[in-house]
Amino acid sequence: MKMSKLFAPTLKENPADAEVISHKLMLRAGMIRKLTSGVYSYLPLGYRSLRKVEQIIREEMDAAGAQEVFLPAVQPSELWKESGRWEVYGPELLRFKDRHDRECCFGPTHEEVITDLVRRDVRSYRDLPLNLYQIQTKFRDEMRPRFGLMRGREFIMKDAYSFDATEDGAEAAYKKMWDAYGRIFSRCGLLFRPVEADSGPIGGSFSHEFMVPAATGEDMIVSCDTCDYAANMEKAEIRPCDPSDHKVPGTRKKVATPGMTSIEQVSEYLKVAPETLIKTLIVRTEAGSVAVLLRGDHELNEVKVRNLLRVADLELADEWTIEEVTGGPLGFSGPIGLKADTVIADQAIRGLTSVVVGGNEADVHIMDVNPNTDFRVDRYGDLRCAVQGDPCPRCHGTLRLDRGIEVGHVFKLGVKYSTAMDATFLDSDGAEKHMIMGCYGIGVSRTIAAAIEQNHDDDGIIFPPPIAPFSAIVTPVGARDTEIEETAERVYRDLWAQGIDALLDDRDERPGVKFKDADLIGVPFRITVGKKALAQGKVELRDRQTRETELIEVSEIVAEVRRSLENWKPIPR
Ligand code: ATP
Ligand code: MG
Repeated sequence: MKMSKLFAPTLKENPADAEVISHKLMLRAGMIRKLTSGVYSYLPLGYRSLRKVEQIIREEMDAAGAQEVFLPAVQPSELWKESGRWEVYGPELLRFKDRHDRECCFGPTHEEVITDLVRRDVRSYRDLPLNLYQIQTKFRDEMRPRFGLMRGREFIMKDAYSFDATEDGAEAAYKKMWDAYGRIFSRCGLLFRPVEADSGPIGGSFSHEFMVPAATGEDMIVSCDTCDYAANMEKAEIRPCDPSDHKVPGTRKKVATPGMTSIEQVSEYLKVAPETLIKTLIVRTEAGSVAVLLRGDHELNEVKVRNLLRVADLELADEWTIEEVTGGPLGFSGPIGLKADTVIADQAIRGLTSVVVGGNEADVHIMDVNPNTDFRVDRYGDLRCAVQGDPCPRCHGTLRLDRGIEVGHVFKLGVKYSTAMDATFLDSDGAEKHMIMGCYGIGVSRTIAAAIEQNHDDDGIIFPPPIAPFSAIVTPVGARDTEIEETAERVYRDLWAQGIDALLDDRDERPGVKFKDADLIGVPFRITVGKKALAQGKVELRDRQTRETELIEVSEIVAEVRRSLENWKPIPR
């Protein structure tokens, strides 16, 4: 491709509405353009990169025994009613009606469609196992679409679904996908980490997310500095602590705390450490009102609370409910004398003795409260989020927190969908059984954004070669000179002849402009053809990642580019 013909409208300035680096750089490099909130067009550079990621995914999925299909994007509501998700999916699901008034949705995921497909045609254990995948546009009406391709509303996903006759088979299918994901992200040139993820309160399922560590990631990776334990924030377990703070219990007393509603305010005002305060959060669930007690310095982990209570939904109570449950206003809730249906407490509270709690009355707190005798707790559990420095739940190491981007997700579903939608097969023993399923997603478009978040510098993108729109660029520099132009053209053609996709910067631009653009769009290797080097029969090869340059014989350059592409490794930044 010649740069003079390439449709890559680059921008000098950072676009005002782009917050994260990948979004800025993809707009500036002319890879994508926004159509409307969370919906993007892929221009030639963006689409080439996307197709390379897709190709890697296809090769590895096929090698792992999965078969590619292509399912409809528009789905009838009936299937979603069967699975029970029509009611629970919420406003992320784009719903609409056709001309016959039939309810439809635009697929945010395809468990229903695939389960329907398979239940119709798979009858016997002999037809299993089966793993089907597709690469397709999804739509999720995200509450906060942002960061360009990172959290779009319309985005491209690879989704695979496995169907097995036995538990062992289902676990083997999961393991195969796990391995394939490792190969996919390695081949994309990414540094990544699989982490344990939450799989809900139902037993028999498990789940991992593949995370790309990056400062702008929306997710938190919790990992041990000693063993290989790693989990996302929702899942990260807390090691039960020493059940005693060795304090002598004092005598309970009310204290005035005028207008002090936050932990910080109360702790400062009463001159007590936040860890001796108890936070009382009132939440509403389908199982009634629940009071959740946490140590003052700890944060609530909603997923853990939902799992402990086995509820699907949970929301912080409004002021009216708080008043009803506690008898006092928001900001002064405490655990003594509550009318909540259930009281649950984080395990860290179990061993405390003299604590400070809200008085369930405006401007009042109570000091020297004893959790063992002064209030009721129905159940203790691990209900808080991990923090930097927590002890590892598996060994004697320490947990650390890093930001990450979730690029993939593998999930053993079990029989959730096959039961709800009656996807059964006839087993070898003659019994009718439910298929055991797994689902496996990769954010194809998000993977490109993640690659850029992980690989960039002040000058632009540093594409890992396997997913770069072009692997190399030939840049003739200097005033119009036939020898330079002919050499550049010849190297460019030779690269293509050897299967290396290259650009030729044939534009009538100053060298500085050409170099800037090549750096911005992140071409991994640049071959500069200039007068001085050419006089000795050489051209300059520059590595975008290391920024190192080397003079190479013209006759050797294609072989050298090939070697450099093969030897490329991501450098942790
Ligand atoms: P998230 O927690 O980021 O919303 P999710 O858990 O909803 O992700 P899955 O339903 O597991 O995601 O979808 C599979 C993959 O699709 C994710 O691992 C992610 O890479 C990608 N993905 C999900 N939502 C988006 C989005 N809004 N934009 C781009 N990619 C997405
Ligand atoms: Mg989501």
